[in-house]
Amino acid sequence: MNKEKRQREGKQPAGPAELLPGMKDRLPGVAASWEAALAALERVATDDGFVRIETPVLESTSLFAPFGESMQEMIETFSDAEGQQISFRPDLTLGLARAYREHNLGAQQPFKCFAVGPVLRRERPSAGRLRTFTQVSFEVFGDGHPIVEAQLIASLMFAFQELGLAFEVHVNSMGHEECRKKYERALMDFFRPRRGELCPSCIEDVGESPIRVLQCAVPGCQTAAHDAPQIIDHLCDDDRQHFAQVLEYLDDVDVTYLLDPRLFREKDFYNRTIVEFFPTHTGTHLALAGGGRYDTLLARIGGQPTPAFGIACGMERIVLALQEQSVPLPKPAPPDVFLAQIGDEARTVALKLLFQLRSAGIKTAESLVSMAMKTQLEMATKLGVQYSLIIGKKEILDGTILIRDMENGIQEIAVFEKIIPEMKKRLKKNGTQ
Ligand code: AMP
Repeated sequence: MNKEKRQREGKQPAGPAELLPGMKDRLPGVAASWEAALAALERVATDDGFVRIETPVLESTSLFAPFGESMQEMIETFSDAEGQQISFRPDLTLGLARAYREHNLGAQQPFKCFAVGPVLRRERPSAGRLRTFTQVSFEVFGDGHPIVEAQLIASLMFAFQELGLAFEVHVNSMGHEECRKKYERALMDFFRPRRGELCPSCIEDVGESPIRVLQCAVPGCQTAAHDAPQIIDHLCDDDRQHFAQVLEYLDDVDVTYLLDPRLFREKDFYNRTIVEFFPTHTGTHLALAGGGRYDTLLARIGGQPTPAFGIACGMERIVLALQEQSVPLPKPAPPDVFLAQIGDEARTVALKLLFQLRSAGIKTAESLVSMAMKTQLEMATKLGVQYSLIIGKKEILDGTILIRDMENGIQEIAVFEKIIPEMKKRLKKNGTQ
């Protein structure tokens, strides 16, 4: 019996516990990519005036009840000790919308917020498709103008470009419910005479969810869907005009996008503009970010009707794309000095000096563990510092400290008490401070 099957059947493997399928430990190897991606997204938030808020990972299951099958299939639910039904959030949008309604955050319109945090979905795990992952979500509540979509799409596009990612922006409009119903009827009429060409699961979907047939990856279904009607031709005048304006704004700021008639969002609260960012030059063509307008959501969860638009970015997917595309990451600026020591007494003195140097604004890296001097100096070289400060038994006795220039290896003796002004002087001279 394989490990996954044993776990599914509630039988834990003998031996130490291991990472669950579909979960990921974030290890040092991705730290730099993660930090770079997060910093780029945080910059968008700061530049565009999004305020950071956090909501809990757990929500009352009733928050998700108004939404359709795709939402119910996504959420993991359990009963707490009091018998209340509780669900893990499958995205950040719903919790943010609940918080917006519950705390009357709409006093100032529009309310722009962003959040970073883990979400959990009932997924069949595969490469790039995890059960728990981290989203960075941007939401704009209280403004239905098409410029809202264009600005957020453009800001994220520029952020991904700056990060060095290769990607495509796909956009479409889902219209509102009536448009979508009309479109689904047109699709059903189109696919019915072509049932024979479809895969068994699409044959089932034709009468209920013909949009799924449109998106099916099976070659036969793709051929059958080749000349399928497009939603753009079934939008009402208002929705068509709104979408045309979004596209005009995107053109104005030179966003290159693909009008993708097969792009639809699974969750059933979206209307009008939808968008996804797909990586190019990667093995997995899974979206880096996606979102859309959701003007009816607030009313569906008991709030005032409020137009809203949001995009959620998947951190693990962005990091994966950065690695698959071998994107060079900006190197963090090296510390100013490295503090090395040898012997117990020197270690105590070094600890005190470390914080004195840092309080004086000198960025200091250190090795306070027992380690050969050679290894400590290798660490300093790797970090790219200009100077190492060395304290040993002799220096303590003499009240001195060694300053080693890491470029030429020349060591000078300095008075311990004067080391901070001395280093400030040297670093200023070198332009590093
Ligand atoms: P969605 O609302 O489903 O489009 O999710 C927004 C973003 O979250 C996607 O564009 C992905 O980057 C990320 N994401 C969604 N599902 C997963 C998953 N199962 N594993 C990893 N990242 C995901």
